[in-house]
Amino acid sequence: MNLKLYNTMSRQVEEVARPEGRELRMYACGITAYDYAHLGNLRRYVMDDVLLRVLRYDGYQVKHVQNVTDVGHLTSDSDTGIDKLEKGAARDHKSVTDVARFFEKYFFESCDKLHISRPTVVTRATEYIDEQLRIAVELEKKGYAYLIEGDGLYFDTSRFEHYGELARLNLAALQEGARVEKVAGKRHPTDFAVWKLEAPGENRQMVWPSPWGERSFPGWHLECVAMALDQLGMPVDIHSGGVDHIPVHHTNEIAQAESYTGKRPFVKHWVHHNFMRIDNQKMSKSLGNIYRLEDVVAKGFTPEALRYLFLMSHYRHELNFTWEAMAAAQTAYDRLVAALAVFERESEPSMTSGEYLTKTDEYRQKFLTLVNDDLNVPAALATISEILKANLGPRGRYDLLIDLDEILGLDLRAQVERKRRQLSQEIKRDDLEAQVADWLSQRESARADKDWARADFLRTKIEEAGYRIIDTLEGAKVQKTHDQTDTHA
Ligand SMILES: [Zn+2]
Repeated sequence: MNLKLYNTMSRQVEEVARPEGRELRMYACGITAYDYAHLGNLRRYVMDDVLLRVLRYDGYQVKHVQNVTDVGHLTSDSDTGIDKLEKGAARDHKSVTDVARFFEKYFFESCDKLHISRPTVVTRATEYIDEQLRIAVELEKKGYAYLIEGDGLYFDTSRFEHYGELARLNLAALQEGARVEKVAGKRHPTDFAVWKLEAPGENRQMVWPSPWGERSFPGWHLECVAMALDQLGMPVDIHSGGVDHIPVHHTNEIAQAESYTGKRPFVKHWVHHNFMRIDNQKMSKSLGNIYRLEDVVAKGFTPEALRYLFLMSHYRHELNFTWEAMAAAQTAYDRLVAALAVFERESEPSMTSGEYLTKTDEYRQKFLTLVNDDLNVPAALATISEILKANLGPRGRYDLLIDLDEILGLDLRAQVERKRRQLSQEIKRDDLEAQVADWLSQRESARADKDWARADFLRTKIEEAGYRIIDTLEGAKVQKTHDQTDTHA
């Protein structure tokens, strides 16, 4: 199957072509390592991970490059304000390098817990200074950039005829409308810094000599160009980022890459992930709702359930995070694992009849068609519920779901195993008969209340413990399922 994906450039869903004789080149804008990665960041990388998993399941060979910004990202998009890294270092009383490495490590550890595969290559902005400088010098030489004395080298957006196409920028309107933060000497409002000079009295930790000044540093939009060109080459097949990258960061990447190389397109397929809201509000320091993975775990939820929650909404839609939704995702995830644990106990081999294989394949195709249709993971998750009830035999359902988890990345195999170990320990610890009897009466009252979900959940728990429910005229009873250790008794 070939993946179809929405392309921000064309505003259409397009097929991702299979490159001939080379790997598919994917570049993902990484984090600016000045603070803890929050849920909004993590959702983005979970969705990038699903994208990569679909590609790999489909048989694409992918090289995935992701950067870490450890210099040059200013607090404002309009080339004013201070460097986020320098600000972080001042806040934490540490060196910029220590701050950047600390938050980079934190980010990748959070990713590991969420089963986000590591990129093929991770590049840091500070490791690409020479490369970035070479591009900046060339842009000036070709007449695409001009110097603002005492400020830095700026890209002249009027010189690049395709400027703003990605974001459908209305340049005339921008020219008219005055911006709040202005840089004196800028020829056009959209012009942006390619290379910055240290401001008087700024006393930066991270500076390098350049033709424009002894103490200077690259602009943020330059690093991704340098790394993508060096690690992947043009065209980059898929470039991903957040929707906030469209009007400035990615727009300026395109301007620099295509002006520098004289070729286009820099990128064939632009993918942008939408934002996350918390309780229908913007994430902000003042609201104290910038949660990270630890905050979720501290409330008793698992990283896998958080990933499940992320998968429940489409990457191009906003996700509204609430603790209620988190609890619902945890329940759904636990039930999935519990059901699989029951299936897995069945030792019957997978059925191999033609009818069975056709049926399995139908479900698999349905799931794959959805995820390959612009990553319609929410709909694909609904087919998981269908498979749980499908007439494929327990082992058949188990095998199919474990296979599809290659794409979902919910760590199902390991979690089922963990669940089984946990359960066998519980059985030793507790008086199982009493526990099962208690579940059974709880199930009876759930059924009386028509709470079918809870009744179902309790049935699974009873079955997991090795009992089957038998409905009799006097109500439900339990019977121990056949146990191999009892055979000679
Ligand atoms: Zn970038």
